[in-house]
Amino acid sequence: MSLLDDLLDLATGSSCLGCARPGRLLCPQCRAGLAGEAFPAWPSPTPPGMVTPWAAAPYEATVRELVTGHKEHRRFPLASPLGELLATAVAAATEPPRGPLVLVPVPSRPGTARRRGYAPTETLVRVAARRLRAAGVDVVVACLLRSRRGVLDQSGLGAVDRSVNLAETMHCPSRRLRALAVRRPLARVVVCDDVLTTGATAREAQRALEAVGVRVHAVACVAATPRRNPPGRPRPSRPLSGGVL
Ligand SMILES: [Zn+2]
Repeated sequence: MSLLDDLLDLATGSSCLGCARPGRLLCPQCRAGLAGEAFPAWPSPTPPGMVTPWAAAPYEATVRELVTGHKEHRRFPLASPLGELLATAVAAATEPPRGPLVLVPVPSRPGTARRRGYAPTETLVRVAARRLRAAGVDVVVACLLRSRRGVLDQSGLGAVDRSVNLAETMHCPSRRLRALAVRRPLARVVVCDDVLTTGATAREAQRALEAVGVRVHAVACVAATPRRNPPGRPRPSRPLSGGVL
């Protein structure tokens, strides 16, 4: 543990969300362990017509702690590692790099952002855009979408209930679209969110953009709920011989 970690622990009483080591909220070792390759994260079942969703990590272990810490407990410094992961997902979703990009954050439910006084997803998308810009990518963030009132909290709802809950709940105010058309007429558009679960939220964002003529290139997320049986990975089979636990 470094002197800085000692001081941080003394000042804040914090510890790493990954390994519980006293010090910063994410220690350098756990942060280094987050780096990986983004992957297509198709939910099962996949909402019909969904563009390819990319995620930088499975939604489990340290990443899950980071997302919850950032979103629910307002641990703002976590926006940095999470935004970096999102940037990895966006880069993979837009490979090979060509032309400008527009990142569209999935909107918070009305009231949620105000209650929190903070827009966690938009913040992550802005961090991701800064990272990509530093790497030479021509990218802007456009908050094109708004949520209508009456949307329930998604947690605890299954895939079907989520898509019913979200059907036609987002829209794109025309003045935002006009402003974007002037700024970025030929950009590729990527819908961004923190966690992909059933895909219902991202699919609704895609629908709302397509409804006003915006073609969505991909979805990019920090993390995705692991599928029970991902394609290419065989289902667990019974061992042929006994005696193995
Ligand atoms: Zn750690």
